[in-house]
Amino acid sequence: MTAPPDPAPPGPSATDALIVGAGPAGLALAAELGARHLNVRVLAPDPHAPFPATYGAWLDDLPGWAARSCVAQVWTDVRVYTATPPTPLLRPYALLDNAALRGALLGRAGPHLTLQAAQVTRAERHARGWTVHGTHAGQPASWNAPLVIDASGHRPALLPHPDRHPDGAALQTAYGIVATFDRPPSAPGAAVWMDYRTPHGPHRDATFLYAMHLGGDRYFVEETSLIARPAPTRQALEARLHARLRAQGTPPREILSDEWVSFPMNTAAPAPDGVLAFGAAAGLVHPISGFQVSGALRDAPAVADAIAGALRDGGDPAQAGWDVLWTPERRAARAVHLLGVQALLNLPASALPAFFGAFFALPPTRWHAFLDPRTPPGPLARTMLRLFAHAPAHVRLPLARAALGHAGTSLHALNAAARTLTA
Ligand SMILES: Cc1cc2nc3c(=O)[nH]c(=O)nc-3n(C[C@H](O)[C@H](O)[C@H](O)COP(=O)(O)OP(=O)(O)OC[C@H]3O[C@@H](n4cnc5c(N)ncnc54)[C@H](O)[C@@H]3O)c2cc1C
Repeated sequence: MTAPPDPAPPGPSATDALIVGAGPAGLALAAELGARHLNVRVLAPDPHAPFPATYGAWLDDLPGWAARSCVAQVWTDVRVYTATPPTPLLRPYALLDNAALRGALLGRAGPHLTLQAAQVTRAERHARGWTVHGTHAGQPASWNAPLVIDASGHRPALLPHPDRHPDGAALQTAYGIVATFDRPPSAPGAAVWMDYRTPHGPHRDATFLYAMHLGGDRYFVEETSLIARPAPTRQALEARLHARLRAQGTPPREILSDEWVSFPMNTAAPAPDGVLAFGAAAGLVHPISGFQVSGALRDAPAVADAIAGALRDGGDPAQAGWDVLWTPERRAARAVHLLGVQALLNLPASALPAFFGAFFALPPTRWHAFLDPRTPPGPLARTMLRLFAHAPAHVRLPLARAALGHAGTSLHALNAAARTLTA
């Protein structure tokens, strides 16, 4: 975190921006800064490693270039099962091609990008910018630049831990496998965004199957807890996935790879700090869907423009970046989303399928907008009210109880939203 200003001036540096982290967010911003002829140094323990996770996104959420050249597969048959028959979502869903995405970002950054293996521990501000400290090849090392950007993911290396809910972080957790199957474990040719049916019997935690047919006899199947506190463990979700597959009569023939997902969903908008952050480190994971990657790709050009402008005009590039990233309107929208998170956390597990049944029965423009981080707070709040009005009684009652039980927090959130909008 930010230490008191260090009067010692840094040595000359040709680096305009240091980015901590070589995930999709760090490289997305590096690409846009490089494309604006700014010299960027990305520091990460293994900066040449492929992105490790399975990234999905709505096709229409991706910037055009990524939708055209960085998707491994697109499904037009996209379903949600909150009961049988399924609800068709009529919105193409994409699996990102991580290698193509990484290659496209590195290509866009061009010769202005340097990748360096390093573990960063802290950053200090001084009169002419920042010194970042860490280790490189097992030795202490430091780097200087006018700007440092923390893109180190869900456990930020430089930012204070984001201010989360007083009761602690609510997590999305999931366990998934890519495997071959003798019989299809989910609809062939389809992406199943949520399957809340429980052939393996009821359970204390409501989890759902997230599944994609990858072609031939290969499927990606993931047992997912959308948001919970405390969240189901890896062991619990792995056992539950296999119990589901057995109960369906579709055990895997050969498991080719597996994946564990765990990250906080109820992150509040961060306080703008001297260190600019981007991606998950900047609280940009969507609190209802858990998505972030498409948003980072969309946000990066505007943040890079703001940084380039501030560096050129002698302004504060970190503040310029924060101003673009967390506008008052987006902060207010986050407060509304966090109310939605609270409602979800308070719903009994048995009510979640009916809740999502009502959610996906909303007009598509409404649920699309609800899952879009750019939607202003007004339409978000109206969608929540409409959802409440149309939800079945056994969902509405616990929602009302949740709202009343958290009246203080709700009012605080709405007040914060109103304050930021009138500021
Ligand atoms: C398994 C999994 C699946 C997910 N699926 C999706 C999905 O389908 N769609 C979606 O939109 N989102 C998804 N998410 C949520 C989120 O978008 C991802 O976590 C995404 O990877 C975040 O991108 P990022 O670049 O901000 O951080 P990360 O991808 O976590 O990258 C962080 C980078 O910082 C580096 N780093 C960390 N600490 C230090 C340090 N001290 N010094 C130097 N470098 C450091 C890391 O090595 C890494 O290079 C998923 C998350 C997980 C965990």
